[in-house]
Amino acid sequence: MPSIFTRILRNELPASFVHRDEVVAAFLDIQPLTPGHTLVVPVREIASLSDLPPEILARVTALGQEIGLAIRAVDPSVTGINWLLCDGPDAGQEVPHIHLHVIPRRKGDGLRFGGKGSKTERADLDDWASRIETCLKDRMAK
Ligand code: 5GP
Repeated sequence: MPSIFTRILRNELPASFVHRDEVVAAFLDIQPLTPGHTLVVPVREIASLSDLPPEILARVTALGQEIGLAIRAVDPSVTGINWLLCDGPDAGQEVPHIHLHVIPRRKGDGLRFGGKGSKTERADLDDWASRIETCLKDRMAK
């Protein structure tokens, strides 16, 4: 049974993409902890960090770094970024397809880890995705 993220990558389920290539992809979290919360995933479905080839991990983290820079560029109210990677159910991993959370932080946003994000309209996710995607393309073309 393919993971929900594999189904997204196969275009069987909708998502608001900011980037996709043959190795890595990134799209907005459907229940963002803060606006712009993005997930970076390897295209190959691998559940655990332990099984992720280091060269793919390097692509995931490099894309996570670029996305953080793009988010800061499109939204100057973003003054910090949290990365979160949950490896295993006991670490809070719900989707068994390893992914890096890139979570924009703003002064006084009140975010405390351990909670759930709120369901967000697709139009809002698409708006964030297209702004990040445009900035990311410019940055990656340089
Ligand atoms: P985990 O707890 O596994 O680290 O995080 C899973 C994340 O995937 C959660 O933040 C959750 O909101 C997000 N998520 C779950 N289902 C979907 C989905 O169908 N689409 C998107 N874009 N995100 C999802």
